[in-house]
Amino acid sequence: MPEAPDLFLLREYLAPRIEGEVVDSVRVLRPLVVRNMVKRDLSEDIAGCKIHRVKRSGKVIMILFSGAHSLVINPMLMGELKLADSSDRMLKSTVLTVNLGGEKQLRYLDSKQMGQVYYLLSEDVGLLPMMVEQGPDVLDDPMSLRVFREGLSRFRGEVKGVLTRGQLVSGIGNAYSDEILWEAGIYPFKKVTRLTEEEVARLRDAVYAVTSDAVDDLRKVYGDGHPRKERGLLKIHGKTGDECPKCLSMISVVRARRGDTNFCRRCQPGSMFD
Ligand SMILES: [Zn+2]
Repeated sequence: MPEAPDLFLLREYLAPRIEGEVVDSVRVLRPLVVRNMVKRDLSEDIAGCKIHRVKRSGKVIMILFSGAHSLVINPMLMGELKLADSSDRMLKSTVLTVNLGGEKQLRYLDSKQMGQVYYLLSEDVGLLPMMVEQGPDVLDDPMSLRVFREGLSRFRGEVKGVLTRGQLVSGIGNAYSDEILWEAGIYPFKKVTRLTEEEVARLRDAVYAVTSDAVDDLRKVYGDGHPRKERGLLKIHGKTGDECPKCLSMISVVRARRGDTNFCRRCQPGSMFD
């Protein structure tokens, strides 16, 4: 489940390795995952183009080609973009491959096929609903507390949902929202309208501290290697039943279709009925 810190490092890894490379060919193995917005043959269009830039915004990776077209990839839960060697075994979950010079191959895999790949004109990237709706990137310069508070006042729901929806600030998903709320000592299902001034301040600080620290920590883990799914650095998410690193209570879980929420009942007191 890649979130801003994961994709930040993926972009950092990919950009110097594929920008400027000429595309030999493209193969779409699972056409249903690809939303072709220009109604032209993607493979024909992109072959011969250069990869102009690799960009990231929130939880989305964009590959801009030297022609007028781009691929926008929103990996959602299980999608994975990776730079492979053409001799690497082709997994069944491979959605598309962009074959570059030599043996290099950019592959997008998605075992659940829940992610989205858009093929569209580069000038239209900003018009995609998911781009229009998203708030400032969580890894950009932090909002001031005043701006953060004003932004938050536009929402009514539970704080975890507000964080993961991406309209207040983009790039936070299920895992990092748990880490942020634990750091801030806030019950994940508390309504944002009921947060105290102090909690809003702690939330804002944790939003930026947790995600920027994650970038630093992940960078140390990956070194020069290919970023992979790395969840070992998380303190609370995915740690059901472990000890809370702050108070040693057992970490709780609330299971939902969209993913588990982990939190510490002692450090993050609250109830669904508040
Ligand atoms: Zn605790």
